[in-house]
Amino acid sequence: MAASYNYIGNINSNLGNYEDAIRYYRLTQHICKELDRKKGMGASYYNIGIIHYELNNFEAALESHLTALKLNNETGIKELICASHNYTGKVYAALGNYQEALKYQSQAIIIGQELGDKRRLGIAHTGIGATYHLLGDYKNANDNLVKALLLGREMGEKTIIKDALFTLVEVCKKNGAFEQALEYFTEYHQVQNQISNEAVQKQLTMLNFQHSMEVKEKESALLKEKNEEIQRYLHKLEISNNELKQFAHVAAHDLREPLRMISSYIMLLDQSIGGNLSDTQKKFIGFAIDGSKRMEQLIEDMLRLAKVDTEPKTESIELTSVINEIKLNLETLMKEKGARLEIADELPVIKADRTQMLQLFQNIIGNGIKYNESAEPAIQIKHHVEGSEFSISIADNGIGIPVESREKAFQIFQRVPTAKKYSGSGIGLAICKKIVDSMGGKIWVEDNPGGGTVFHISFNNVLVTQST
Ligand code: ADP
Repeated sequence: MAASYNYIGNINSNLGNYEDAIRYYRLTQHICKELDRKKGMGASYYNIGIIHYELNNFEAALESHLTALKLNNETGIKELICASHNYTGKVYAALGNYQEALKYQSQAIIIGQELGDKRRLGIAHTGIGATYHLLGDYKNANDNLVKALLLGREMGEKTIIKDALFTLVEVCKKNGAFEQALEYFTEYHQVQNQISNEAVQKQLTMLNFQHSMEVKEKESALLKEKNEEIQRYLHKLEISNNELKQFAHVAAHDLREPLRMISSYIMLLDQSIGGNLSDTQKKFIGFAIDGSKRMEQLIEDMLRLAKVDTEPKTESIELTSVINEIKLNLETLMKEKGARLEIADELPVIKADRTQMLQLFQNIIGNGIKYNESAEPAIQIKHHVEGSEFSISIADNGIGIPVESREKAFQIFQRVPTAKKYSGSGIGLAICKKIVDSMGGKIWVEDNPGGGTVFHISFNNVLVTQST
């Protein structure tokens, strides 16, 4: 508490609020007295003495400094004793009692020397120099002030340099050494400027700091606001996404039943009256059966898309075994087209959902064979590992996808005009993208240099171990 009061006193003193400063120093004094803390008491008397001196109340200043000196002597702390001698001397000088002043200030020099404390010694020489100046002893004044100046320069203590120079200018004038006086005066000015520049600089740094704090505070408030907005938006998006998912599922599910009824009854109709129909009528019935079959496929695909889980399982799976299973699934199509599938190197084990990986690669490989007019349709799978990144490419020698349609091909129900003669619903690649997105990966298409398409997929942090 006493230390805090002392600091508050110092702040008030620096602000020129002397009355408040004295009040706080007295509170320090009071506590220190109760605790019998001589050092704290000495400090508050000393500080009060400085204020009285600043207010030209030299008698009161003397009383305070003498008490401070007595208390500091009792502590035996030489630094404090030295400072007290110095200030007491300064007050005696202000009162015109130069002999007493010199007594105290000489003592300050002796203690400063004992301590080897150049800063205190510099202050003491400045003080005694000023007293000699008032006394008219310009030789001693000059000697001491020059010593102070040298000590000040040695330590880069601008206040000591400035104070010593201030009196030195007067001393030189009295000695008739005007050229030297001018030199000292010039230096005094420079130091004074430096001191005030430093003060301005300090103030500027402080203001800059306050400004940047203010800007940061505003920025973080804005960021918080934006963040909350995003959270609200995300919440809304999640709700509408769930609704949409549910709608797609229910709609697809409920459409299945009436559709089955339509196709079953058309087929029954065809069987029962088929013989009595004209060729045109038979063609119409054929169209209706075809249409309902396509619609059935579309509904199946929609259900597949709705089923893709956005939070996939993460089990360790061997990609090579996934591809082998796909080979079996596509056996009929591959035989029909005379297609082959080549894997450059054995594929690694990755953390993923096996069903999703089957869907992903089967859609792409299946498309590569389906959209293919080559005499020998070929699918080539290559992979690459770099750090935690795993990329895989599936190349075909098929009909290719025009550049302008590549992005569209990944959108639901979007088919490329070149694919008109092939059956399909335009959902397969949308499923692939959804799977890759949910794993934080990327999927894109490029031209196969030898003709056809290359699908690239890259994932981060999915590798378990890398097979050789
Ligand atoms: P679907 O095959 O059922 O039409 P997809 O979503 O799998 O739907 O593909 C979207 C479209 O992209 C296809 O209609 C086709 O035009 C084109 N496409 C996909 N893969 C290939 C490929 N390997 N070569 C050429 N075109 C392709």
